[in-house]
Amino acid sequence: MAEQKATNITWHAGHVTRADRETRLGQKGCTVWLTGLSGSGKSTIAVAAEKQLVEGGALAYVLDGDNVRHGLNKNLGFSPEDRTENIRRIGEVAKLFTDAGVIVFTSFISPYRADRDAVRAVMAEGDFIEVYVSASLDTCESRDVKGLYAKARKGEIPEFTGISAPYEAPERPELVLDTNGQTVEESTRALVQYLHDKGYVGR
Ligand code: ADP
Repeated sequence: MAEQKATNITWHAGHVTRADRETRLGQKGCTVWLTGLSGSGKSTIAVAAEKQLVEGGALAYVLDGDNVRHGLNKNLGFSPEDRTENIRRIGEVAKLFTDAGVIVFTSFISPYRADRDAVRAVMAEGDFIEVYVSASLDTCESRDVKGLYAKARKGEIPEFTGISAPYEAPERPELVLDTNGQTVEESTRALVQYLHDKGYVGR
């Protein structure tokens, strides 16, 4: 838990409610939290789902791992403490976007169960959708999209998830996308379908 440093601060509510924004947008804001090994397909699925939803008239937005580390979290590395703080900040940003009525996709390895649960805990019921993008280490390593596994195997990247740092799979995710055998289209369709079925989009 991050320390509360400022005192004498209060939450200032506006005149426009979340429900007003959601009515205007015709959707329900939520955070679709994609978690899985590097190369499991989180970013690919996030950008594909974002595109499909936006083309269908919804408002969606992707918060992506490397992008956030360029700015908001540029002072954080990959130690367990920094990973925890990385996820905490992303969770807070996702919560604000969700309050704005946006369908947010986050694509972060987010290897620690406790960190993901902490984000779930700051969100309202139904706002946090944990999606386990499941692919075996073999699958991810054979894809090696960014050449990171090869580097990690040579010892050039310390604390690499799946190789020299742990990954804790979700125990009760809202949705599992098994990308070992699915195509990108199939995984994306399953995710977008879930959001329709649960009434987040297409209201
Ligand atoms: P991550 O964001 O989890 O690190 P990426 O999305 O960058 O992973 O890379 C996943 C790779 O796996 C891409 O090259 C993608 O084309 C491939 N892939 C194969 N099948 C799937 C699938 N069903 N869903 C997502 N990606 C897939």
